[in-house]
Amino acid sequence: MHSKVASTLLQRCNFYSCIFSLKRKICNMPPVATKTFDYLVLGGGSGGIASARRAAEFGVSVGLIESGPLGGTCVNVGCVPKKVMFLTAMHSEFIHDQPDYGYDVQKKSFSWSAIKEKRDAYIKRLNGIYFGNLERSKVTYINGFAKFADNRSVVVDGTLYTGKHILIATGGKPVVPDIPGAEHGITSDGFFELEDLPKKTAVVGAGYIAVELAGILSELGSDVSLFIRKEQALRTFDSMVTENITQTIEDSKMTLVKNSVSKSLKKCEDGTMTFETTAGVFSGFDCVIWAVGRTPNSDSLDLEKVGVTVDAKHNIVVDEFQNTCTKGIYALGDVCGKALLTPVAIAAGRKLAHRLFDNKPDYKMNYDLIPTVVFSHPPIGTIGLTQAEAEAKYGKDNLKIYQSSFNNMYFAMTQRKEKTKMKLICAGPEEKVVGLHMQGMAVDEILQGFSVAITMGATKADFDNTLAIHPTSGEELVTMR
Ligand code: FAD
Ligand code: NDP
Repeated sequence: MHSKVASTLLQRCNFYSCIFSLKRKICNMPPVATKTFDYLVLGGGSGGIASARRAAEFGVSVGLIESGPLGGTCVNVGCVPKKVMFLTAMHSEFIHDQPDYGYDVQKKSFSWSAIKEKRDAYIKRLNGIYFGNLERSKVTYINGFAKFADNRSVVVDGTLYTGKHILIATGGKPVVPDIPGAEHGITSDGFFELEDLPKKTAVVGAGYIAVELAGILSELGSDVSLFIRKEQALRTFDSMVTENITQTIEDSKMTLVKNSVSKSLKKCEDGTMTFETTAGVFSGFDCVIWAVGRTPNSDSLDLEKVGVTVDAKHNIVVDEFQNTCTKGIYALGDVCGKALLTPVAIAAGRKLAHRLFDNKPDYKMNYDLIPTVVFSHPPIGTIGLTQAEAEAKYGKDNLKIYQSSFNNMYFAMTQRKEKTKMKLICAGPEEKVVGLHMQGMAVDEILQGFSVAITMGATKADFDNTLAIHPTSGEELVTMR
């Protein structure tokens, strides 16, 4: 009920702001300063909302400008709807195992539209909840697209807003490769608009999004080909993960097409698509998904007016305190191109609010130990240094590597078999745990607790001194030899 009211208010707010901006445009009126804030936040995604609400707790006036739906990438076209689809796909795996556990499951049908409808309704509810949260926090919500006017102000639909401090948290968007016919493909944004499960899908890319979306679609019954430019998927991860995920994909229903650099995409008369790559020509796709990375939303902000610099990939350049090179203007989250993860944007946003308005001059985001999960099938969980990074930092002779490969007890009853793999990287004579990498059932949930221990500086002896919980797969981490 509460979120319904918030959602209606949100729609009204958008409506009135549209009418006002239209009037200004028609009358060709110059920008008018309507309000000055202590803190003006550009972007109502993970980082922007977190920073705005935390700042408001310290009694400062905060304005937040958002051009799209509240919640940004994560809520609308990222983590949240993706996780719903991952959970949907998990049922598909379990349905196959149910006869092995004594269940007689006759009807195995699946309705994409049923889950899409529920997922969309959930996201809409979240948009309303985010709006309500801003109201409760006394953050002024401004709907529209912001561009810099000068070092202290931005223009939104002809109206000028000024801020003593301005945060850029405008996120990013998917990259579409520059090849003929690329427009026939979709990106992860388009994936969330699909009204039906594609029959035959090409997923292009080798990172998080490619692996996750390919896995979801394949589990749900689409005939998926994953096209990667090199020999392996998730190449930047620890070698154990890289090798295991590549092998897992090869052993799955998916077709893995290696060394396939995209050349062109053609739409045929029958509506299907033909994809030409350096590894050959592949036909019959009713859906092609580009998942080849993301690019920051920095180009349309008129940054040149305020001297904020960007790097070669258009990421906003900041120091360790999220300061841009222009005093009073800060940036964080995906628009800076470093560790594109929701908790990273949130943590950086909150730390900045404490630094600026809570007299905590040393507060800054620690980018060293970032736990992260890839929602592949099975999932991957990782924190800290890869083995290659640890060797470069500590030297090979100063490391001890513990590895384990085992069957989760769940698979003792099933015809389907799936190994869990774990690796602990320990450094120095005290064997400090500097990296943990896993792939297998439930590692997505196991990782968080171990991240606490590793962030606190746990050693292998601390792990060994921790009593196991039996029978679980997490216990393997405290019994490794
Ligand atoms: P965003 O959340 O992108 O927010 C930026 C906001 O700024 C947007 O709402 C945009 O509309 C707005 N904006 C842009 N320009 C302007 C302007 N000029 N004026 C006003 N508003 C503007 N991360 C995880 O941790 N876990 C996951 O499981 C996960 N899954 C993902 C799955 C997918 C498919 C994708 C694409 C991403 C996923 N991520 C995940 C990454 C995560 O979504 C991002 O790291 C996170 O949303 C970044 O937050 P942000 O605040 O920097 O930017
Ligand atoms: P990633 O950076 O993870 O991966 C993109 C990969 O695509 C590259 O590593 C590259 O791999 C490959 N690639 C690049 N260009 C091309 C090209 N022209 N043709 C074919 N392949 C290409 O980007 P994503 O878009 O997958 O995700 C963006 C970020 O969003 C992630 O890095 C992550 O931080 C975040 N995210 C987090 C999730 C989570 O937490 N679970 C889920 C989804 C996204 P190679 O060099 O091997 O070819």
